[in-house]
Amino acid sequence: MDFVFRRIYRGPLKAAIFDWAGTTVDYGCCAPAGVFTEVFKRRGVEVTQEQAREPMGMHKRDHILTMSKMPAIAKKWEEVHGKPCDDSDIDEIFEEFVPMQLDCLPNYNELTPGTLEAQSDLRKRGMKIGSTTGYNREMLDFILQDAAKQGYKPDTGVSAAEVPAGRPAPWMVLRVAEQLGVFPMEAYVKVGDTVSDIGEGLNAGMWTIGITKAGNEVGLTKAEVESMGEEELRARIERAENRLLAAGAHFVIETMEEVPAVVDEINARLAKGQRP
Ligand SMILES: [Mg+2]
Repeated sequence: MDFVFRRIYRGPLKAAIFDWAGTTVDYGCCAPAGVFTEVFKRRGVEVTQEQAREPMGMHKRDHILTMSKMPAIAKKWEEVHGKPCDDSDIDEIFEEFVPMQLDCLPNYNELTPGTLEAQSDLRKRGMKIGSTTGYNREMLDFILQDAAKQGYKPDTGVSAAEVPAGRPAPWMVLRVAEQLGVFPMEAYVKVGDTVSDIGEGLNAGMWTIGITKAGNEVGLTKAEVESMGEEELRARIERAENRLLAAGAHFVIETMEEVPAVVDEINARLAKGQRP
């Protein structure tokens, strides 16, 4: 036969999977950034905000490992410690990281602008809502509970510690899909604020949306965003857009407030037979 016929999903989105810090809570993803900086500082290695934020979204141990391999940090580590940063160092840093991160979570768990509105819009469409995170289960349980008090209640959440590998591997979102009982993956959109969030969604065959202004890539608190000069802020948002688009994001938005409009756009594309 000269032709093959391909099955194409033309229905609407059925579910969204949102990241946590820098997406639905913790404007600017500031909670983990501060702790990563501090754990290295305690070992005599000063790291920049940019270095601390670059691997954001990964499992937190993978994040520390990635930072330790950055040439500037690796060099500084050897100067201070007289040997390269090895696996046992990473374990030790991670062990210290976990309680410090847990301690500061309550200060950084306010919902981001647009999260509640996005939730109610998606619910009206009959969509399910899942969530994934680079945090461990204990941290996720805390933020789930605290977000619920503020009115945001996703149907489920999976942490990086519960799967064989965190982002950019797709295992967390696939576990969420299994729990939601919803398919195909073309009927899902992943929303997150980091390069590894986009990788996670793409590796699972989902639509992806990257968050710029309120997320890790711009990396500022809401107050800092509001007091920053228009030109400097524009430049930072543009840099974030470029990084997320280069990672393969289908859409980039500034905050969760734009999610409903993008869902409309994705539904229009699906109806035309387009795939993620
Ligand atoms: Mg995030």
